Amino acid sequence: MDSQLQVYNTLTRQKEVFKPINPPLVGMYVCGPTVYSDVHLGNCRTFVSFDLIYRYLQHLGYKVRYVRNITDAGHLEGDRDEGDDKFTKKAKLEQLEPMEIVQKYTLGFHEVMRLFNTLPPNIEPSATGHITEQIEMVKQIIDSGLAYEVNGTVYFEVEKYSKDQNYTILTNRELDDLLANTRELGGQDDKKGRLDFALWIKAKPEHLMRWPSPWGWGFPGWHIECSAMSKKYLGDTFDIHGGGLDLAATHHTNEIAQSQACNHAEPAKYWMHTNMLTVNGTRMSKSAGNGFLPFELFTGDHPLLSRAYSPMTVRFFMLQAHYRSTLDFSNEALEASDKGFKRLMSAVHLLDKLPVAGSSDYNVQDLSKRCYAAMNDDFNSPVLIAELFEAVRVINSVYDGKSKLDQGSLDQLQQLMKAMVFDVLGLQSEEKSEGDLTAIMDLLIRLRDEAKAKQDYATSDQIRMSLQELGIQLKDSKSGTTWDKI
Ligand SMILES: [Zn+2]
Repeated sequence: MDSQLQVYNTLTRQKEVFKPINPPLVGMYVCGPTVYSDVHLGNCRTFVSFDLIYRYLQHLGYKVRYVRNITDAGHLEGDRDEGDDKFTKKAKLEQLEPMEIVQKYTLGFHEVMRLFNTLPPNIEPSATGHITEQIEMVKQIIDSGLAYEVNGTVYFEVEKYSKDQNYTILTNRELDDLLANTRELGGQDDKKGRLDFALWIKAKPEHLMRWPSPWGWGFPGWHIECSAMSKKYLGDTFDIHGGGLDLAATHHTNEIAQSQACNHAEPAKYWMHTNMLTVNGTRMSKSAGNGFLPFELFTGDHPLLSRAYSPMTVRFFMLQAHYRSTLDFSNEALEASDKGFKRLMSAVHLLDKLPVAGSSDYNVQDLSKRCYAAMNDDFNSPVLIAELFEAVRVINSVYDGKSKLDQGSLDQLQQLMKAMVFDVLGLQSEEKSEGDLTAIMDLLIRLRDEAKAKQDYATSDQIRMSLQELGIQLKDSKSGTTWDKI
């Protein structure tokens, strides 16, 4: 390999040569999902992107500790410090215990991640499992003089912090602009400054998720969990902190401030952010009606989708865009990815059937260098995929007898293709084993049961009919639903 891995660092706004703090060890923290509803596709893109990054770092020989949290407490509506806790709100709606909601959507999230063939993180800590660490961190920030308590709520004092530190280091915005664009303090809070944010929030009497603290019963602010858990598992300063681009301006900005105030050290050396999703050119959002969920893509059950797309087609489609570019969903683009993915996988299957010649008319070594150069250029998966299609052309040409490869070149090509397609891009053959199909059917039957429980018979019928068209018959009985291939 001739090139060195370069990583785009949001902190410095440029690509930098990747130099871990303690090679070959790499510590990577990625902000995980808030488990109060189904994981949305934008989040899936972030986790597929960091799966690519995790896989490639491991492929290069780094020993990575990948930590991705589960936010299961304290995330307020609108990311502000007022409003209902999302878990309590949802619990009231569905008449469930908050931890029942957490369990349901954590399981659903893991199921979707497995279908996308993402590797599980090494540690998946939850906010509710780390209340002690969060309280300890808040205490230390108060001791450092950068936080204050008012009526059981603790706030971080942004303007005081800004006297010695650059609060907007991540986004490079002017503090004065931020102040000018933030609303006046309302009567509903006791903040000293309008940019101050809550580290610990006093629980109202009806609040279900609450813990005792030195400031009375309450719950942690959203940002503190990531600072506390990354410190616990990766240390005061670690290599990579990642997440969606939408987290940079507030969540990550506040994480840096909290960690600096507590540890007197920058939390992460490289900050990496994945870009957002659009649908037919406009930003994907639930309110605009153009946001679909992963399982809606897998079943095709959404007005904007002309058919179902498999998890691997969607993964391949996501990897065809660079993680820092926006990714636009359309039926045409997904259709093209489906064809491309099938072409690539057919060529991989042909690799073991190619004839061996006495000489080669293709330089596999050069192809290998170009593949690594693409990935070393800030994990440029679309360029890598373009190089792999060059290999597809060669494989098909050798199979048709129009080109030739000697034994050494063939071995090299097999090794390269399998490493890049399976280990780095994390793609899987779509020829489903019975085990895969069982897991997918379990998911669909669960979704249909949920639709029926909500009296959404249009959706439950649609799932049954669509499966029938695919040759799968559902049978309902008192003991539940079973399925059979027709
Ligand atoms: Zn976070």
